[in-house]
Amino acid sequence: MTNLEARYDHVIIGGGVAADSAARAIRAASAEATIAILSADPHEPVYRPALSKDLWTGDDPDPASQDLHTAEETGASLFTSTLVTELLPNSHSVITARGNHTRFGKALLVTGSSARHFPDVHDDRVVCLRTVGDYRHLRGLAQEGARIVVVGGGYIGTEIAASLTRTGARVTLAHSGRHLLEHMFPASLTAHLEQTFAEHGVTVVPGFRLMGIATGQELALHAGAAESLHADAVVLGLGAELNTTLAEHGGLDLEHGAVVVDPYLRTSSPDVFAAGDVALFDDPLLGLRHVEHVDHAQASGAAAGKNMAGAGEVYEHTPLFFSDLFDDGYEAVGRLDASLEMREVWNQDRTATVVHYLEDGRVEGVLLWNTWDSVDRARDVIAASQNGDLAAEDLDGRITPG
Ligand SMILES: Cc1cc2nc3c(=O)[nH]c(=O)nc-3n(C[C@H](O)[C@H](O)[C@H](O)COP(=O)(O)OP(=O)(O)OC[C@H]3O[C@@H](n4cnc5c(N)ncnc54)[C@H](O)[C@@H]3O)c2cc1C
Repeated sequence: MTNLEARYDHVIIGGGVAADSAARAIRAASAEATIAILSADPHEPVYRPALSKDLWTGDDPDPASQDLHTAEETGASLFTSTLVTELLPNSHSVITARGNHTRFGKALLVTGSSARHFPDVHDDRVVCLRTVGDYRHLRGLAQEGARIVVVGGGYIGTEIAASLTRTGARVTLAHSGRHLLEHMFPASLTAHLEQTFAEHGVTVVPGFRLMGIATGQELALHAGAAESLHADAVVLGLGAELNTTLAEHGGLDLEHGAVVVDPYLRTSSPDVFAAGDVALFDDPLLGLRHVEHVDHAQASGAAAGKNMAGAGEVYEHTPLFFSDLFDDGYEAVGRLDASLEMREVWNQDRTATVVHYLEDGRVEGVLLWNTWDSVDRARDVIAASQNGDLAAEDLDGRITPG
């Protein structure tokens, strides 16, 4: 790796999916622009969703298969293992943990999220899954017959538990709720999922609020007075936290824990843009929100890159997200919040459904369960409903499940 130059036209802070999309957009707009990507990761930008899905369920378990080849294909200078410790918008410069600094014309903050750890547990058998290093480490732990407890019944915890069943490990999924993914799905789907996990040999333990992990010869997970689980390895699926320290210390505006951006993805400092997980943006259908999903990382990264190169285009995307669990899969748009009113439309053999999430009679989110090529229609339904052009009782038939 070469040394940092004194100045780049564009400095991208972070080396994830949003960084990749931004570098591509800048390069598409300008063949000459100098681009530096400063990434704390020791590896190339990768397609992160594969870490909990395709690398376990597909033919190729090598994470190199998920490299995005950002530097090679854009000519950007990629500095891996390079933690940026200071962002100084006024002097248009950044400083790294090794004390190197560089100046920028425009900067992009795409520092993403970090997995939430359990406090005061430092044992390499207790892992999270966010990076390629985490994936490699978990692969090593997930031996045939190993007892692995996944803690967390949300999005990542359920995906990891499902994927781990492919390794021959004995998988337990412990979560604090009553039902898996109950914060997102109606009872019909949570019941279906619990049955599916059981059929694949996963022991699901509800009502398990992790209090501590004892790290002896085996790991002992405690929840309350009597209950404990024993394991050879533990995967924590406890959610993620936005990496906003640089933005805070750099004096950028934050709200709801995320970095405020204008319609062009500019932060409160006009030459500093933000995209991906960390950006609080104005969704054209759903208002101010931050979204920790890959479609948004790709689309907002690309939009920010274009605008850094001078395009002046408004970011007008309502992101989708998706997941796969065993033989089921879904795509979704908007808020999947089970505290809202949920209207389900099922196909005849009850293998596919469309769930509408309503607040005050307006659709806030649409879940497309085993239902494909319907994301644009879901966006149309949300738009029509938000505009008052579609009544709740007319939802049936707008999107066909399956
Ligand atoms: C295991 C897993 C599975 C997922 N599956 C799905 C899925 O199925 N569907 C979906 O929609 N979404 C999924 N997601 C979420 C999706 O991957 C993220 O929303 C997306 O990758 C965010 O992209 P990003 O570029 O904003 O941030 P990230 O991908 O988090 O990248 C942030 C980058 O910033 C770097 N960084 C942070 N701080 C600094 C600093 N101070 N200096 C330098 N570099 C720094 C990090 O090292 C990293 O390179 C998944 C995430 C994970 C972890």
